[in-house]
Amino acid sequence: MILLIFGPPGAGKGVYGQELSKKLGLEVISTGDLLRKEIREQTEFGLKIKGILDRGELVPDDVIIEYMGKVLSGRDNVLLDGFPRTVKQAEALDKIAKPELVIYLNVPKEIIVKRLSARLVCEKCGASYNKITLKPKKEGICDSCGGKLYVRDDDKPEVIEKRFEKYEKETKDVLDFYKSKGIVLEVLNDKINTDIKEASEKIFEAIKKKSERIYL
Ligand code: AMP
Repeated sequence: MILLIFGPPGAGKGVYGQELSKKLGLEVISTGDLLRKEIREQTEFGLKIKGILDRGELVPDDVIIEYMGKVLSGRDNVLLDGFPRTVKQAEALDKIAKPELVIYLNVPKEIIVKRLSARLVCEKCGASYNKITLKPKKEGICDSCGGKLYVRDDDKPEVIEKRFEKYEKETKDVLDFYKSKGIVLEVLNDKINTDIKEASEKIFEAIKKKSERIYL
């Protein structure tokens, strides 16, 4: 089963993806996490894409399609976070494996900017925290591995604006692509601070009931 979790940057795809994958028995594949790992490990591919990520731009379609084709080969129970982000990528994914459901996290821009500028990421294991909604137990330190927490270069306010603009321009078309197939579950959330466990349970129930839209 292929599930997509979809929405603007900072909508909570990472955290909800983790929770839902446990409930559904799926492996989470986050394109952003994979790309940041390539950069951290300074692979040839990582060095090639670092500038693109720092500027908040999208990796070119042909490059990411080839990369994700390799990642997805031999895997069929996945929850994809961050892919596809363009219609060209969505069409390419259909040729690899057709997604069954798209969970669309619909969060307003003002909430996104507030949340993202408070996001912290572990430089060692990549775990995500938030200064407002998901504080680490010890300030600046990762709960799970003890690594140092930092603010992603692409979470700086001017880059957030740019990423949101890109999302509005390109990625919304992807949503229309899946809406026309009737496989979208829209999850509306305009709160800055949401109980993740409770919200994930609501989404899980909505998936079982095959709802088209819920409010958190
Ligand atoms: P994310 O962690 O999902 O916000 O992704 C971080 C960055 O990785 C994005 O701003 C892009 O530069 C790059 N990226 C992630 N997924 C994709 C994708 N499907 N297509 C192109 N670039 C991507």
